[in-house]
Amino acid sequence: MDLCAICGGEKRRGQTTYSVELGFGVVVIRHVPALICTQCAEEWIEADVAKELEKIVEVAKNNKLEVEVVAFK
Ligand SMILES: [Zn+2]
Repeated sequence: MDLCAICGGEKRRGQTTYSVELGFGVVVIRHVPALICTQCAEEWIEADVAKELEKIVEVAKNNKLEVEVVAFK
């Protein structure tokens, strides 16, 4: 069982909202799968999910919108 590195609590599968500041704007990605600590509520994003987030951010950068809200797929 994977435990929280901060408090040692149990992590549960859930969803989070991830936002990135791009300088000219911000991208908000909703429904991102994450492991959430049941004790301290720290969110842990897995490597494969993080890679997908990077791709979404790259696309958002090209769109040049001030605020972009997308759903994680
Ligand atoms: Zn914790």
